[in-house]
Amino acid sequence: MNIVQKAEWKLRYYAFRALGKMGGVLNGTQYYCNLCGKSSRVFLSYGTKSEVALDMIGSGVRRHCECPRCFSHDRFRWIYEVLLRYTDILSPDRKRSLCVMHIAAEPGVRKRLAEKAGEGLTYLTGDLEQKYSDLRVDVTDMHQFEDGTFDYFIINHVMEHVPDEAAAMREIRRVLKPDGVLIISFPMCLTRKTFEDPTIVTPKGRLDAYGQEDHVRLYGTDSEERLKGFGFEVTPLVVKEQLPEEEIRRMALIPEDTIFLCRPGKEGSASV
Ligand SMILES: [Zn+2]
Repeated sequence: MNIVQKAEWKLRYYAFRALGKMGGVLNGTQYYCNLCGKSSRVFLSYGTKSEVALDMIGSGVRRHCECPRCFSHDRFRWIYEVLLRYTDILSPDRKRSLCVMHIAAEPGVRKRLAEKAGEGLTYLTGDLEQKYSDLRVDVTDMHQFEDGTFDYFIINHVMEHVPDEAAAMREIRRVLKPDGVLIISFPMCLTRKTFEDPTIVTPKGRLDAYGQEDHVRLYGTDSEERLKGFGFEVTPLVVKEQLPEEEIRRMALIPEDTIFLCRPGKEGSASV
């Protein structure tokens, strides 16, 4: 987030907090945010018009992206919905203890998970910079964690920044328990295969090739196969294949938004 975006975010925050206090302005049942549990008359637009046409899921301006009460985004709401529906992290009748690592944790999702920590749930957040997380974690070298430490490893919209993808995926597979689950997503192109070229090193070159100045690859239509190549059994969860239309509209999710649930395959099945 650059300084202009930060200022804009703060302005929105105070404006909508004031509106909320005036009462009634946001009230309505048109939209529902699963992260703050509140309904609203409007959700806010978010995003910038892309200069580069790369057919990426959710690129450009999304008209009903942001909850005006907690500022969650559509992507965060889908991540949280996946955690609720397809994992036992937040199950009220969970019988087992869990250890969860969440890399570059999305703020609203982190808040919900941190609230549950302690009830048989060890919840850790990690990032390359420790500023907003519990631990400094470099996903390409997680020597501080023993093999088979985590039941869940959550990492969304990070891998497109990591040059040594193979090292990161090897490490993630190592620190997951044999029956653990990797929950992963990244910006994806809908019309071509994953593209990366290590000779593209300038911000402009990366913007043109991958859609953002600090990305090092653009994932594509072969993403599921790519994850399998790193030794995982992969289940893609696409919003429009999992939820009814009305629920997608009400939570203002991106229909094509995809999160992969990955389980370590049998030893030696990794091809990379
Ligand atoms: Zn909300």
